[in-house]
Order: sequence, then C-alpha cells, then structure tokens
Amino acid sequence: MSADDTPRRNAQPETTIRRMPWPEGVSRPVATPMQPSVVYAAESPDALDAQYEGVTSGYTYAREGHPNADVLARRIDRLEGATDGLVTGSGMGAAGALMLGLLKSGDHVLGGDQLYGRTLRMLREDLPKQGIATSLVDMSSVETVAAALRPETRMILLEVVSNPTIRLADVDGIAALARERGIRLVVDNTFTTPRSFRPFDHGADIVIHSVTKLLAGHSDATLGYVAARDPGDREAIRVATTTWGFTPSPFDCWIAERGLFTFDLRYDRAEANAAALADRIAGLPGVARVLYPGRADHPDAARAANLLGQRFGNMLSFEVTGGRAAANALVRAMPDLPFAPTLGDVGTTLSHPATSSHRALTPEARAAMGISEGFFRVSVGIEDIALLEADFTRGIAAAAAAAAG
Ligand SMILES: *Cc1c(COP(=O)(O)O)cnc(C)c1O
Repeated sequence: MSADDTPRRNAQPETTIRRMPWPEGVSRPVATPMQPSVVYAAESPDALDAQYEGVTSGYTYAREGHPNADVLARRIDRLEGATDGLVTGSGMGAAGALMLGLLKSGDHVLGGDQLYGRTLRMLREDLPKQGIATSLVDMSSVETVAAALRPETRMILLEVVSNPTIRLADVDGIAALARERGIRLVVDNTFTTPRSFRPFDHGADIVIHSVTKLLAGHSDATLGYVAARDPGDREAIRVATTTWGFTPSPFDCWIAERGLFTFDLRYDRAEANAAALADRIAGLPGVARVLYPGRADHPDAARAANLLGQRFGNMLSFEVTGGRAAANALVRAMPDLPFAPTLGDVGTTLSHPATSSHRALTPEARAAMGISEGFFRVSVGIEDIALLEADFTRGIAAAAAAAAG
C-alpha cells in the first residue's frame, strides 16, 4: 500500500461544531431580533459572578429569562403602568406562577364564580390538593365578597368582565375591601385589556393576562403575563416562574411582540364592530337578548360606563330561542366564522358555552347562570362590519327557522 492510498483526513474535523461570532457592525436592526439561545456565555468567572450579584446585567439560561421575553414584558408593562412584569409560557402559567409563588398550605383564595374555565379548575381542584382552600363567589357584589372572606384569605382573583355572561365585577368596591383587610387583589385583565381598563389604577395588586388572546391577537402564540405592585411579590413570582418552568418560548414572544404593534388599531376596530353588531343583532327576530356592556339594556350598564369609560371591548354574548336545534342551525349557517373556544383573534370567533366551557355543569346550574342551549359568546374581530352583519343576519335567520320548524 503506497502513501497515496491513505484516506485523506480533514485537517479540522470539528469545523461544523465551532460557532461563528455574530457579525458586529455600527448599525442595529430596527425589528426586534428573535433570540432562541438557551444559554449565554460569560467572559470569565469574575464576569459571571458580577452578573449573578446584579452588578452587571445579562442572561445566563433561557428558563431564567431571555431578551425576547423581556422586550415583550417591557411593552406590556407600559400599557399596564406596571414595573418589571414577567411573560410566561401561557396565561395559565401566569396564574400558576402567582399561586405557587405567593401562597402556602393553609391559605384561602376567593375567586369569581365566572372566571375562565381552566382558572376555575385550578381553584376548585388543583389548589386544594396543595392544601390551599378556595371558594368561588359572584364578584358583581362587594357584600357577597365580604361575606365570603376568612381570616386566612390571602388573595381575591377576579375578571372585570365575566365569562361568558359579560357581567361587570364591582372592582372598586372589592379593591377597597381588599386594601382594608390587607388581602392581595389579582385582576385577570385578558378580556378588558389595558385599552379598556388599567387594574393598577383601580387598586389591584397584581395583574395577569392571557397574552394568547387580544394582545398577541393572531391565534399563533401561547403566552401569559403577570405584574405585581409589590417588589417582594414580584421576586416570589419570578422565582416560581424559573423553578416551575413557566418560561415562554422566544419565538412566541417574538411573534406576540410583532402582533402588539397593531393592538391599538385592532382593539379599536373590533370594539366598534362589537358595538354595531350588538345593536344589529338585538333587533332580529328570534334573539332573546344581547349582552354588551355598551348597550343601555345591559344589566350593569352604569357600572360598565364607570369602570370602562366608553371602552366596552370586543366581547358580546347573545341568546337565540329554539334550544340546541336553533344553535346547530346558526353555526351551520355561518361556516366562515370559526366555531372555536377562543377569543381575541383578528377574525371573529363564535363559542357555545353549553357544549364547551360550561359543559361540565348540570343544565340547572347553567340555567342559573343564564347559559341556555341558545347562548353564544362572540369575540368580534376586525372584519368589515357589513360582512359581519350579513353573517349574523343569516345565522340568526337560520336559527329562527329551526326554532319555528
Ligand atoms: C385564555 C384565558 C386564560 C388562560 O390563558 P392561556 O394563554 O390559554 O393559558 C386565562 N384567563 C382568561 C380570561 C382567558 O381568556
């Protein structure tokens, strides 16, 4: 065998593994870069030490924080008037981080009885397993809330607008009560968004969001947000987020931050559409009632005006007569509208609580909440209003025909 037959070896076998430094330049990108790096290299043990001691700032490991989460969090902070809020991997992650960070066995939490379905489950089943007692009450009356408080109540959790019956919580009354008793008030501001309501201006101690919904706005990112007024609470929530792994994905943060650029425009348009659509639907045969906080016939119209100003949001509910048959006919006559249990998308979506979010309840329990087989919740989007009016007119006519037949 001659020397020429020896297989040639690559002079540098590891070249596919060594990373290239990021090209530095004197200009910087206008759009936020997407940074998927899980780890961040430090210059030396001294530099790492300085970073951990808070002398310098930087990142180390993505579960503990990363630039895309921070860019998004700072932008939501500005909307909410918050300091150092945290973005989490989902809205439920925000709720989980706050419960695990702030509560302990023996504590009691009071929640609204018409919270988001998964939050209700957390309060009914998951927190009690950790030795945390919970009770659920109607948040539209501060007297009911006051009567349900216990000496060990540490937290009150409410949504400003209830789901799906669109009732308004007595936020100001409950905030005053919570302050007087030294109990944290947590507001889930997902439905109202800071464009309609800023919980910190009304005495809330903590604000949470499902960023998945209106803030991100395109049904393509699952994220949450939590901000606390008290620095000690903030740190406890941050530690829980890191320890329990509620950290968001950089890509979701990046795409949600992009969605946020049009949030004001989307919200204003969806809100104007919702107001017009509520009035249009209310006059149609077969419609038993329409629930929109901006309408004079809303049961909490005065409180809505007081809390929300003229910002009544994009969510409305309505009820058709004729039961399940009418409901089926309505959905089938509106095939262009996603019939899906979500909200806050750019496009209008329709949900039917009796078969989705509230299916676990007995028909009697649903009836007590005013949720019949003909009850729908609508998350109004930014389509041309003429298109929406045509869709709903057709759907409701089909429901009325089914009810008559
Ligand atoms: C969707 C939603 C949540 C949960 O958020 P996810 O991002 O789905 O985890 C919490 N509260 C409200 C009001 C919601 O609509």
